[in-house]
Amino acid sequence: MGPSVQIARFLGIPIKLHWTFLLLIPLAGYLLNRPDIGWNGFLFFCILFILISICVIFHEYGHALAARKYGIETDDIILSPLFGVARIRKIPDSPFGEFIVAVAGPMMNIMIGFILVIYLQWACPGALSLFGHELYESIMSEGERVNAFPENFSMVDMTISILVFVNLGLVLFNLIPAFPMDGGRMFRAVLNNFMDKLTATRIATIVGQIISLLIIFVSIYYQQYGITLVGLFVYYMATYEFKMIKHEMFRNRFDLSEMIRTNFTKLSIFSTRSEISDLFIKGLEKNFLVFDDDESIIGILSKEKIIDWMADDENSYHQEIKNYIVKSFPMIDTNMKVDDVLQLMRDFNLSFLPVEKNGNFIGVLDRNIIYDYLDLQRKLILKKY
Ligand SMILES: [Zn+2]
Repeated sequence: MGPSVQIARFLGIPIKLHWTFLLLIPLAGYLLNRPDIGWNGFLFFCILFILISICVIFHEYGHALAARKYGIETDDIILSPLFGVARIRKIPDSPFGEFIVAVAGPMMNIMIGFILVIYLQWACPGALSLFGHELYESIMSEGERVNAFPENFSMVDMTISILVFVNLGLVLFNLIPAFPMDGGRMFRAVLNNFMDKLTATRIATIVGQIISLLIIFVSIYYQQYGITLVGLFVYYMATYEFKMIKHEMFRNRFDLSEMIRTNFTKLSIFSTRSEISDLFIKGLEKNFLVFDDDESIIGILSKEKIIDWMADDENSYHQEIKNYIVKSFPMIDTNMKVDDVLQLMRDFNLSFLPVEKNGNFIGVLDRNIIYDYLDLQRKLILKKY
């Protein structure tokens, strides 16, 4: 996704701004230079933009908090000028769970919109229908018509009216039954009740592609090229999502026991730097498990740590292995999915983990071996067809 910078942390989830925010700088300069906008207009755009971003963040929190109900954490929420994304670790396994996580985002916008409508009805009855009417007229006349609002329609009422329509827009856009929109996931989850996940994904993708092509053609016909871009984006993302799911399903259908290495060198807490240096440089193993006297694992000596150790100054010869081992690491269970193992390796920044079966230690898993195994399987499948 490229670089982003954290601006806040809420309910344990970091909120980050995507680098594409920098693209707003020239836009801001352009707006400031337009005489018909001026500083006041510019300030209004800024406030409106921040408020819309907050609505998008709420939407993403909807997904993140629903996922938390299923015990799935969210790495972060990334906000860009064009989209928001909650990077949820994984999709719940059950179709119902997937549906709930997907629908929770738009539900947030429905809630925000509902609260704003109630406020408007209380503060300025009729404001919304007036604004809606003006909005309709200005769209129909392609923005040429100058809005004429009555005196009692304050700037705050206007801002809130805009926010109501923005939230409505977010709901409608996200309910389009095409990936990567929430509607696509909801649609897939419903289909998944009647068929396997891959077929469900394939159908949801095809429907997504048809809808995006419709958006593209209709927008070109009406010369709304901004919407054409949205259509192209939806088409691309629908296709991309299908590829991702296909790869994910491919990885997860293999049994971990096929990839476990039972033949490996055991280090002890008394292993010396020269022993390890020899093993590391002349042998094929680059990561090691370290055992104590009673044969229980006390840590992992990773490739990175060995290099650190070797690169340390003269003093390193007198250092002990315990200063370099990683003591906090997970045990892999043979029943886990390949994707979950790869995720754990990323989380703990290790490319090598011990494996147990029914609570008994049986071997180790290397990330490279997993990748090689998957490459081999991919080739075998291609050969079959
Ligand atoms: Zn969403």
